[in-house]
Amino acid sequence: MNVAVLSRNPALYSTQSIVLALRKRQHRVRVLDHMQCDLVVDSNNMEVRYDGYRLHDIDAIIPRIGASATKYGAAVIRQFEAMGVPTTVPSEALMKSRDKLRCLQLLAGAGIEVPISAFTNNMAVLNGLLNRIGSMPVILKLLVSTQGMGVLKADDKQQANSMMEAFQRLQQDALIQEFIGEVNGADIRIFIVDGEIVASMERQAMAGEFRSNLHLGASSKPVEITKEEAEYALKAVDLIGLKVAGIDILRSNRGPLVLEVNASPGLEGIETTTGIDIASRIVACVERTAEANDN
Ligand code: ADP
Ligand code: MG
Repeated sequence: MNVAVLSRNPALYSTQSIVLALRKRQHRVRVLDHMQCDLVVDSNNMEVRYDGYRLHDIDAIIPRIGASATKYGAAVIRQFEAMGVPTTVPSEALMKSRDKLRCLQLLAGAGIEVPISAFTNNMAVLNGLLNRIGSMPVILKLLVSTQGMGVLKADDKQQANSMMEAFQRLQQDALIQEFIGEVNGADIRIFIVDGEIVASMERQAMAGEFRSNLHLGASSKPVEITKEEAEYALKAVDLIGLKVAGIDILRSNRGPLVLEVNASPGLEGIETTTGIDIASRIVACVERTAEANDN
């Protein structure tokens, strides 16, 4: 097969890992920077152009779209979709997962437990919403945050008010969320490929930090997940519509709460922590999808 990995940086561990796994299975692979893909929309001839040339014969794409390129990346994926090229990340699924509010609405609406979250553009009602959430501290979260950047803790109402004011002033949408303190900076990352749980790890934030993102120096170890966690994770990914996803879950006192569904989950942490070759699982998924597409 001819497979294109959409990635801004071929040197990234995740990109490398996928490229190597594709080569191991004798596939031809190109890493394309989605920001350098040009699109021609013509009902007779949909084209993706790269370096001035039209791309031919791409059998599947594996998008690795970072948060700073979501919109452009989604447009590129949409173009490949219009050309009938299968993708591990459908454009719609990318857009759903990247908006934390939309993601939580979808999950909660389907009966999946999430931390109680609120959203408003009216500062005058903020204290009422804080009362509805019921306890302090609260988390304030940019709708488009990633790697923990954009996730803040407000210890009291006054802090919450001034932080929300600053977000409003910067025209950044943020949601207000119940803080799950009992997890003490731990969360669970579950990795799903093609409707199957392939690996799970527990991440522990550094001392004095509540965010358990590995980019922020958290440690990690393999973990057994419960039946309920597995069910939530599989259902969440199915709702969003991703073939490859990382789901973050908090083990709260009232059971598992899903935080988010990541469309471009990093491979380095999960592969090195669990020893599981996830890239090869992704390649196997792409092979199955491309084959089904041919029939
Ligand atoms: P990001 O996309 O930036 O990773 P997350 O929603 O996954 O955003 O939050 C980052 C981390 O912050 C989580 O992995 C978790 O450790 C911590 N966190 C996020 N929300 C909460 C919350 N409501 N209560 C406690 N910890 C949280
Ligand atoms: Mg996260």
